[in-house]
Amino acid sequence: DVLINKIAAGEVVERPASVVKELVENSIDAGSRTVRVALEKGGLGRITISDDGHGMGMEDARLCLERHATSKLRELDDLFTINTKGFRGEALPAIASVSRFTLHTAEPGAQVGTKVVVEGGSEALVEEAPPRVGTVISVEDLFYNTPARRKFMRRESTELQHAEEAVIRLALAHPDVAFFVEHGGQQLFTSPASPGDPRERIAAALGPGVHPHLVPVEERRLGVSVTGHIASPEYTLPNARGIYTFVNRRYIRDRGLNSAIQRAFQEFLAAGRQPVVVLFIDVDPRAVDVNVHPQKQEVRFADGKGVGDTVHAAISRALRAAPW
Ligand code: ADP
Ligand code: MG
Repeated sequence: DVLINKIAAGEVVERPASVVKELVENSIDAGSRTVRVALEKGGLGRITISDDGHGMGMEDARLCLERHATSKLRELDDLFTINTKGFRGEALPAIASVSRFTLHTAEPGAQVGTKVVVEGGSEALVEEAPPRVGTVISVEDLFYNTPARRKFMRRESTELQHAEEAVIRLALAHPDVAFFVEHGGQQLFTSPASPGDPRERIAAALGPGVHPHLVPVEERRLGVSVTGHIASPEYTLPNARGIYTFVNRRYIRDRGLNSAIQRAFQEFLAAGRQPVVVLFIDVDPRAVDVNVHPQKQEVRFADGKGVGDTVHAAISRALRAAPW
C-alpha cells in the first residue's frame, strides 16, 4: 500500500502547491470559515494548514489516511454529479506517503481530539490529543523519501508562487471564506471573508489597483450561467496571469473558454491586451466531465461550443455596457 500511495502521489502531488490545493480544498469541504496556510522554504520545508471546519472523530481521522477508505465516490454515476471538491479519497494517503505528516483534529464540542502521525507512508500512529476547533495538518520535508521527485523542484521562490496561486484560485471561488497565507512568518496574502462584494476578493487576489476597473458580467442561456467580473481593457496585470475561469466553482483551464474570452476582447479593442477576467461558468453537473485530469484542472463539456458562445456573448455585452 505504501507503494500504491507513492504512485498515487506521483499523480496527485506534483509540488508543494498540489499539497496546498488538496488540503485547502478539504478545509473548504469541511465548512471552514477561516483557512490559514503557513509555509516554510516555499512549502518544501513545511506546509501547515489550519481550519475551523467540522473536524473529525478518532475513527475518521484514522480512516482518512487509508486509501479510498473515505472516498465520496460510491458509484460511477457520482462522477458527474459530485458537488464537493474531493472525491477520490486518496489525497491524504498520497501526501503522507511522501512527507512527514501530522494531523490534529477534533469534532465540535468533543472532550478529546485526535493526533495522527505518518512518516513517509509508515503505519499511522493515532493517539488522543487536546480538543481543538477544526483541523490542523502539517506536511514537512515533502519528497524527502522520493529524491527523484525532489530533484524536480524549482527554487523556493518559484514553488512559493505556485502555492500562493493555488490559494488565490480557491479564494476567488470562495469569497465567503477568509484566507491567510504566510511564508517564513511573513504575511503574503490576507483576505477576510467578503460575501457582499466579490470585487473585494478579486482586489485582494489580483491587487488593489484592479478594484475601480471591475465591472460585472452576467449571462444566462440554455442551461449555462456565466457570472463574474472583468476589468476595463486598459487595465493590465504586471504578471499577465489575468484569466481565471471556474466551472461549477472549480478552477479550470480550457482552450475553448480562453479563446472565447480573447476573441471578445479583441473584437472590442483592436490592440491586443491581456484581459483581466474572473468568470464563473455554471452548468448542469451532468453536462461536464471534471474527471479528465488527475488534478482536475481540465474538463470536457458535453456542448463546448454552446458554453464558449455564451461566454463570448457575456464578455461582449459587459464590454459594450461598461462606462469606459
Ligand atoms: P477526499 O477529499 O477525496 O475525500 P482526501 O484524502 O482529500 O479525500 O480526504 C479524506 C477525507 O478526510 C475527507 O473526505 C474528509 O472526510 C476528511 N478530511 C480531510 N481533511 C479534512 C479537514 N480539514 N476537516 C475535516 N475533514 C477532513
Ligand atoms: Mg480532498
